[in-house]
Amino acid sequence: MHPHPAKTTPSQGWNFDNTYARLPESLHVRMNPVPVRAPKLVLFNRPLAEALGLDPQEMDGEAGGAVFAGNRLPEGAEPLAQAYAGHQFGHFTMLGDGRAILLGEHVTPAGERFDIQLKGSGQTAFSRLGDGRAALGPMLREYLVSEAMHALGIPTTRSLAVVSTGEAVYREDSLPGAILTRVAASHIRVGTFQYAASRGDGQALRALADYTIKRHYPELAEAGNPYLALLHAVMERQASLVASWLHVGFIHGVMNTDNMSLCGETIDYGPCAFLDTYAPDTVFSSIDQGGRYAYGNQPHMAQWDLARFAETLLPLLHADEKQAIALAEESLLSFADTFRRFWLSGMCGKLGLFTQEDGDLELAQGLLTCLQAIHADYTGTFRDLATAALAEAPVFADADCAQWHERWQARLARQPQSRQDACALMRERNPVVIPRNTFVEEALKAAVENDDYAPLTLLLKAVSQPFEDGPDQAAYRTPPAPIPGYKTFCGT
Ligand code: AMP
Ligand code: MG
Repeated sequence: MHPHPAKTTPSQGWNFDNTYARLPESLHVRMNPVPVRAPKLVLFNRPLAEALGLDPQEMDGEAGGAVFAGNRLPEGAEPLAQAYAGHQFGHFTMLGDGRAILLGEHVTPAGERFDIQLKGSGQTAFSRLGDGRAALGPMLREYLVSEAMHALGIPTTRSLAVVSTGEAVYREDSLPGAILTRVAASHIRVGTFQYAASRGDGQALRALADYTIKRHYPELAEAGNPYLALLHAVMERQASLVASWLHVGFIHGVMNTDNMSLCGETIDYGPCAFLDTYAPDTVFSSIDQGGRYAYGNQPHMAQWDLARFAETLLPLLHADEKQAIALAEESLLSFADTFRRFWLSGMCGKLGLFTQEDGDLELAQGLLTCLQAIHADYTGTFRDLATAALAEAPVFADADCAQWHERWQARLARQPQSRQDACALMRERNPVVIPRNTFVEEALKAAVENDDYAPLTLLLKAVSQPFEDGPDQAAYRTPPAPIPGYKTFCGT
């Protein structure tokens, strides 16, 4: 048996109220994080701690390090590993938290409920052949990118802390180990439903569905068919989420059904990356050889995952299976339109348009065709266009692109708002700084190889205010040359 972490009652402001632990026992296994040798707090998210009603003073240092390492349990924690399944690259597997422990749900002074999860916290009942651990580089990466996504206004799990463990993890090389404290609205996944459904556990499935409605979609409890309403609501949130990914050039990289969160947050920052040059077939993940999760394929894959979710709900949708399937299909068919609505609305804002008119979809798509043809930098071009909204300066040398530019200028001229207003809107919607691969790699290398956290701290500061164009952003505003053949890894 693993040694148990010491119980502790530090006055850090924890306020646990653990509802997931009350769900049917088939959905989780109670177990503690495995203590580590020499925890050291290397990143701590003070603003997030404050927003959660925690006491940063009591956490920034050894006491926090011990808790975020799993060496000490905060009062009220009821640690458990969650059971789930998932389609990984299309293949169904039973999974579960193999290297994560849910400490419980912390309720903030404002009454908001958040999962507090340690990722990299040691072996669990679901570890299979894995060591239950995580390497420092990927945990720093998740912290950086998830906080950048939050600052971009995109729903996401967040990162409260990273501790280095003082232990090595063995991958291809020996690497320094680390644990990330992840904060999420919940960790209920499409794969959680698949787990209950695949075991034929109707009772657990219904309990999970009712729980999900109560926790994330309470207004649906009164709907005529709450489970159909749930399917629809989850679909809406995913359509909105994936549209917002495309708006900033984000590629999740591993949209398996176990990585689709029912509350609509971006979850699981393994092989994700942002594209520099615009190309819809961009893939960075080393294991995504078929391009299943390529940038432009993400809406399609979201719909595929939602179809797997719908399958789990069939017994709840209608007593008659044929009718249940018809209801699910009708709902799923609406995904494309829902997605397009969110996508177009975001693109209009990026183009400085306050309302929509006929032809705007073609206008937005036309720009992407241009960007692809001339291998333009995605994020940089939108900022250049924001300036051009004001100054009417040319942005493109290419003739087709220049023609597009004229159409866009004419469209801006047709709206009643001023050029200044259009430019201001564009600068609110188009980030100056995204966590570009070049910047991320440089910052992580310094931290992991030289214990130098200065570059990471600077980058974090810049991406935390991505729409600002001030001194903190200056070093990151010009797109660097993309790294040829850049690959990302799952971070296991
Ligand atoms: P991911 O690719 O991070 O979504 O993980 C997929 C599955 O593999 C999840 O069930 C993880 O818990 C599990 N897993 C990933 N890394 C490890 C590890 N080092 N040890 C045990 N399980 C792991
Ligand atoms: Mg995962």
